[in-house]
Amino acid sequence: MERKVRVRFAPSPTGALHVGGVRTALFNYLFARRHGGDFLLRIEDTDQTRYVSGAEEYIINSLKWCGLHIDEGVGSGGTYGPYRQSERKALYKTYALQLVESGNAYYAFDTPEELDACRDACEGRKETFIYNALSRHNLKNSLHLSQGETEKALQSGFPYVIRFKMPENEELVLRDLIRGEVRFNTSLLDDKVLFKSDGMPTYHLANVVDDYLMQISHVIRGEEWLPSLPLHVLLYRSFGWENVMPAFAHLPLILKPVGNGKLSKRDGNSMGFPVFPLQWTDPATNEVWHGYREDGYFPEAFINMLALLGWNDGTDKEIFSLPELCEAFSLERVHKAGSRFDPEKAKWFNHKYLIEKSDAELALLLDRQLQEKGIRAAAGVLERICCLFKERANFVSDICNDCLFLFRAPESYEEKDVKKHWKEGSPALLKELYARLEQVAPFTAAHTEEVISAWITSGEIGFGKVMNPFRIALVGTSKGPHLFDITELLGKEETLKRLKKALDTL
Ligand code: GLU
Repeated sequence: MERKVRVRFAPSPTGALHVGGVRTALFNYLFARRHGGDFLLRIEDTDQTRYVSGAEEYIINSLKWCGLHIDEGVGSGGTYGPYRQSERKALYKTYALQLVESGNAYYAFDTPEELDACRDACEGRKETFIYNALSRHNLKNSLHLSQGETEKALQSGFPYVIRFKMPENEELVLRDLIRGEVRFNTSLLDDKVLFKSDGMPTYHLANVVDDYLMQISHVIRGEEWLPSLPLHVLLYRSFGWENVMPAFAHLPLILKPVGNGKLSKRDGNSMGFPVFPLQWTDPATNEVWHGYREDGYFPEAFINMLALLGWNDGTDKEIFSLPELCEAFSLERVHKAGSRFDPEKAKWFNHKYLIEKSDAELALLLDRQLQEKGIRAAAGVLERICCLFKERANFVSDICNDCLFLFRAPESYEEKDVKKHWKEGSPALLKELYARLEQVAPFTAAHTEEVISAWITSGEIGFGKVMNPFRIALVGTSKGPHLFDITELLGKEETLKRLKKALDTL
């Protein structure tokens, strides 16, 4: 019988969730949905020294904002819980002891000072110290000590760890769903600590035990965990769980927009784009980090952008809704090489979603932003503004800034535009325009345009000569949407007032 697809996102609550982490969650979610499986959230908080308060809620809120529904896990419940590793503490020791019993792990009593001394000695010989088959016999552990000595040490409460006994010189040929065959020689690997003297398991032990107990079918995680793969596979083998071992897929890195290496949170701040889904205040430093949500991105656009970082459906298609992604996603089409993060492309995605939104929906968002600036406008006006301005905007805040001139008459005029368009003949033409506008009724965009165009055409005046200085008078610059849409929104009185002011000033 085919195994039920069960995948997990297993972050450690050590700070805000980086976009790379969100993408890992997204790919897990898409894979689960594609195969009718379950998407779990497990919090890996066994390393108490790195715990950051608020990080867990941040992770849950981020996934919620992205629209990634958690089927099972912290905050959602389920039958394989608890899903927070600190609450599963009691069960890991049994598994560690099981490995000691079967000869796959051993007790080690070396103090940090003794291990430092080994490292220094190796460094002196220009070698790297590895705790493994070559060195373990000279160190203080239960492989080397007599059974009596080991028991005495354990009973006396001497601090110990349990280490995995890495096999010597074995060529492991493993399969990764994205990379294909990957090979490791066990002689280059060390006897990793599985269980610590503080009674806590390490990541490796807890991760493998939980994936087994939670019946995880596929482990989809970042490339940085690929070096842990041989140990994890050997743990499955040592426990005798090879027949239910999950398949592994290691996702490519997200790279910096420029230069080499992995996208870091510092890149975001230095280049002015967010690397976190939501705004985050670091509790230790009070430093505030930008979030996609607060910067005005739509979650659908953010998710779409992330999905295309390291995956495509084999065509040129770039715009995918979440349901479309669930339908189209496959691990086979995830790239092996890292993907360069492009902040401009992120904005482009937002623009694409913005122009698809209804004017009514945008108007509600715009209303909130304008009110913050003390501006109130009727719903119909706001919708008209959104319709006119959205083609040029990436964010609602762009619409808000671009339309401000409708509510606040220009206090000054852009110098370079004035130089270019305010000519000797401009005042006379605008005075005539003023007189004609006074007569226009109704003052709708279409009708005003008809009247003014007829005048310009019949007098062979030239559109630019009238429209360019007219625009400067109304907007203050030569930017903005169609001029007669502006006059309609401003109304006759305000249009004339601005014309007069320009004539008096310029
Ligand atoms: N806790 C690990 C992390 O923080 C999980 C890695 C894995 O998915 O195995 O990314």
